[in-house]
Amino acid sequence: MLGTHSTTVPKDEIRSILEQLEARFGRPRLIARFDPMDELVSCILSQHTSDANSFPAFTNLRATYPDWQDVVDAGPERVADAIRKAGLANQKSKNIVACLIEIYTRFGSYTLEPLRTMPTLQARKWLMELPGVGPKTASIVLCFSMGRETIPVDTHVYRVSWRIGILPEHVGEVKAHDLLLDSVPSELAFRYHVDLIQHGRVICKAPLPNCSACPIRERCRWFQAGGPEQHASELKVKRRKVAKAP
Ligand code: SF4
Repeated sequence: MLGTHSTTVPKDEIRSILEQLEARFGRPRLIARFDPMDELVSCILSQHTSDANSFPAFTNLRATYPDWQDVVDAGPERVADAIRKAGLANQKSKNIVACLIEIYTRFGSYTLEPLRTMPTLQARKWLMELPGVGPKTASIVLCFSMGRETIPVDTHVYRVSWRIGILPEHVGEVKAHDLLLDSVPSELAFRYHVDLIQHGRVICKAPLPNCSACPIRERCRWFQAGGPEQHASELKVKRRKVAKAP
């Protein structure tokens, strides 16, 4: 079992890991899909659901209420009707309306542009003070709509980071974001996020990683500590939990 402290994986090794993953999956390029306000709202909608559910909800919200002021004027109940497909509609609509009001109060319009001139950690903290915005949502907004060097930590990024020894096990969400910012060279932040998601989806799956097909197994702490054979009982428990999950 790996320990619970921060990484000892050197930055050069992290760079090599990404190069090996990219030899398999290709190098990701950042193409901003949304402006920061759209990214924030679409990201809140995507919490606890898939893109297949959250994108139609976002599209419907923007078509129904084209201006952010329209969303505020409509209020949480009517907004919930427009975003029903994303799930948790009542909670998400409250958060979206409250975020818009807070942004308007602080910046005098519905914009996140002032964040562009803030240091990255300050901008992340600012976003995390908004209702329903945690470190992952804040990091996605900064990374994808502003090209800032943050690493959103989703389930794949967390799992692969732990298995290869860059994150300790059982670390909290905020701490995981902070540790990765310390550990990964800042210019590799976006590539790290996307490469580990690809790897986690295709090869280093939960609960059973396909280590025999893995291009980075020689560098993986979990594999070197015994891999699937050594951890068979632990994996069996996880597989049972997944099989029982609704
Ligand atoms: S060797 Fe196995 S556990 Fe390690 S990164 Fe590769 S697939 Fe994941």
